[in-house]
Amino acid sequence: MEQNKDLIQFDIPLAKRIHLNNSNSIIKKKLLILSPFILLLCSIFTLRLIRNVEIGPLDNLNFQSQINYDHRLLGHLPYAEIPKEKLVLIEPNIEVHMDMRDSLLKMREEAKKDGIYLVFLSGYRSINLQNDIFYSLKSIRNQEAAERARVSAPPGYSEHSTGFAIDIGDATQRETDFETDFENTDAFKWLIKNAAKFHFKLSFNKDNKYIDYEPWHWRYEGSIEALKVFESSNRKF
Ligand SMILES: [Zn+2]
Repeated sequence: MEQNKDLIQFDIPLAKRIHLNNSNSIIKKKLLILSPFILLLCSIFTLRLIRNVEIGPLDNLNFQSQINYDHRLLGHLPYAEIPKEKLVLIEPNIEVHMDMRDSLLKMREEAKKDGIYLVFLSGYRSINLQNDIFYSLKSIRNQEAAERARVSAPPGYSEHSTGFAIDIGDATQRETDFETDFENTDAFKWLIKNAAKFHFKLSFNKDNKYIDYEPWHWRYEGSIEALKVFESSNRKF
């Protein structure tokens, strides 16, 4: 009897079992089974949210700085105006940077020896003149600034204000002045073959995404000053 009492005292208590048979319990059971999937979905959603909030703007910033790192405007680089004392008149209405004068005139002489007659159309242009060209022609042509910028630089963004740019035509085919057709002239073919010898380079070739091809527009890169001016432009765009 004493032994029995002890047995009762040390009896292992039975686990209390509740049968999950009401509707509330069924939902709980289902939730329990689905919880890993819900957790996974929440993690994916949170990760996407973090990416959008944190990485998204960073990407935009990188993109913007890539575009604006050299301060281009509508595809054109900013250029300071050359001091007046560095300008020389090479013919009526055409002034250029004094560093470029000899090379430019020599190039015209050498071309003449080959039976090619180069004509200079436009050299230095002040920022004020560029302002008139850009805004007056824009309104005449009823163009948006970006469209106009394809064929003319905004004021403060023209290579012509540096004195190192020259627009060249063919004296025997003046109808091609400032026209893409200039590329079919003997003058242009001669320039492509020989201009580099005189340190001239075509500024806006067919690869430029923002500025139209200008076969008549050449720039001088034969002095340290000119190279510094065009350093940004010579980096891959
Ligand atoms: Zn030009």
